[in-house]
Amino acid sequence: MRLVKSLHHGNRDPGYHGLPLIAFGTGMMGRNHVHISGHTTGLTDVVRNHLLVRDARTLLVVAHTDEYFTSQRCNLCQNQLRSVRRNGVTLYPVKHCGHCNISWNRNANASNNMFNILFNQLTIGARPGYLCRPPPQP
Ligand SMILES: [Zn+2]
Repeated sequence: MRLVKSLHHGNRDPGYHGLPLIAFGTGMMGRNHVHISGHTTGLTDVVRNHLLVRDARTLLVVAHTDEYFTSQRCNLCQNQLRSVRRNGVTLYPVKHCGHCNISWNRNANASNNMFNILFNQLTIGARPGYLCRPPPQP
């Protein structure tokens, strides 16, 4: 049994004093165990609620982020990613950038893009252009 409960999660660097900033995708709110493209999702609300409790205790900051296109565009060159097929089967978790010649885990690429969204919104007050929704058609 642990006698002393750790006050912090994440960075253990004693010189680091910032709050962790979590970009949480709004697309998964209220969608526990929903099937998306044939894949079952997990308990996303449990994770979100846990983060919100920590946010309320000022242990971290949760920023709800629109996930639009984050797994479809390369976070390095901003080009459209392609699906990867092997032996006639589409590998859902893998996307390939023909420009960078890099195969991405779609979640890792989406995480990097969500960081880019949050960073841009905090520094220049706008979402990166390559991840913006198209304007509504008249
Ligand atoms: Zn790329």
